[in-house]
Amino acid sequence: MNPKIIIDLNKFTDNLDYIGKKMKAKSLTLTHITKVYAADPKIVKAADENKYVDYLGDARIENIKNYPQVSKPKILIRIPMHSEIEDVIRYTDISFNSEISTIRFLNNEAKRQKKIHKVVLMVDLGDLREGYFDVKELHKAVAEIVTMTNIQLFGLAVNLTCFGGVIPDKGILQKLVDYKNSIESSYGLSLSMISGGNSSSLYLLDKDGIPEGINNLRLGEAIVIGKETAFGQFYDEMHHDVFTLSAELVEIKEKPSVPFGKIGMDAFGQKPVFVDKGQMLRGIVAIGRQDIDHLGLVPIDKRIEIVGASSDHLILDLTKCKKDYKVGDSVRFYMNYSALLRAFTSKYVNRTYIQQQYNMRNFFYKKGDRPIVLCHH
Ligand SMILES: *Cc1c(COP(=O)(O)O)cnc(C)c1O
Repeated sequence: MNPKIIIDLNKFTDNLDYIGKKMKAKSLTLTHITKVYAADPKIVKAADENKYVDYLGDARIENIKNYPQVSKPKILIRIPMHSEIEDVIRYTDISFNSEISTIRFLNNEAKRQKKIHKVVLMVDLGDLREGYFDVKELHKAVAEIVTMTNIQLFGLAVNLTCFGGVIPDKGILQKLVDYKNSIESSYGLSLSMISGGNSSSLYLLDKDGIPEGINNLRLGEAIVIGKETAFGQFYDEMHHDVFTLSAELVEIKEKPSVPFGKIGMDAFGQKPVFVDKGQMLRGIVAIGRQDIDHLGLVPIDKRIEIVGASSDHLILDLTKCKKDYKVGDSVRFYMNYSALLRAFTSKYVNRTYIQQQYNMRNFFYKKGDRPIVLCHH
């Protein structure tokens, strides 16, 4: 039933294979991040079965709790809340941390559950989201962690281009390696995971920009959309339509392009602005801002333009499509990161899984035929 996300599991696997091979060639391990698709169990299963995936990670413990039976280690990549400590120990193998008070709770709970929990410390290298900013504080935390009975210091990680928009480069990542070296020599440790960022670090792979010592990347968006996110370049060799959206036309009518009467606020408190394009063939599909970020949708039929959206209605300009669409037809869209996140968390959007066989030669996008997305996360 519409609206639905059409999930192509073969294309997903192809994308994992493509990136996974690139990473292995540089001796990097791959943590696949499942939050983009709200850890949908069938997709998580496909990722778990992929030989290039070393770890599975998500920002939300609810998602990890709902993982199907998986064989790869599970990582909580958002700093844990004190109120979820019990679940973090129970359902994950590794968690990312930046507060010693939280790590003390993790140690106590791990003792209670008779487990050894692995901790990766987040280091903030300028993006100003999470992580240790002050090196002295980082060293103090390590000094205490090495005395804990049920916590193993597993590694260091940095996150970039998420909040501050800082683009990773060799110099920034080298700082993380320097921290690793100083911690290893000060405390006689060997750290297993030095994680150099998310999909925005991927572009460095192609230009030998990942310094020795970094041995892991955490990738979500790159895998499902087929692009790196520092500059938003699509990979020609990857699929950009692993996930597409299908929504159904419930009205098609000729109408003017500018409303008449006195214009006040729209449903979202904004004063709308309209360009007069004369009479239009307007279509309404039954999906809205409760389910989707309409700014992140691109119709696959390039003759269609999106006019706007309210909570439950998405309005399309079908003028160029002549009489090709009728009420009851489905319209397909590409989704950017933001549209994907919302579509997968809306309970009003269904999911359907396909394992299409296709001719590899036919899937490449022609230049200019790419889903041009308007905003990044
Ligand atoms: C979301 C997230 C990722 C994955 O980011 P993508 O851009 O989807 O590759 C990696 N690390 C952390 C800490 C995250 O929150």
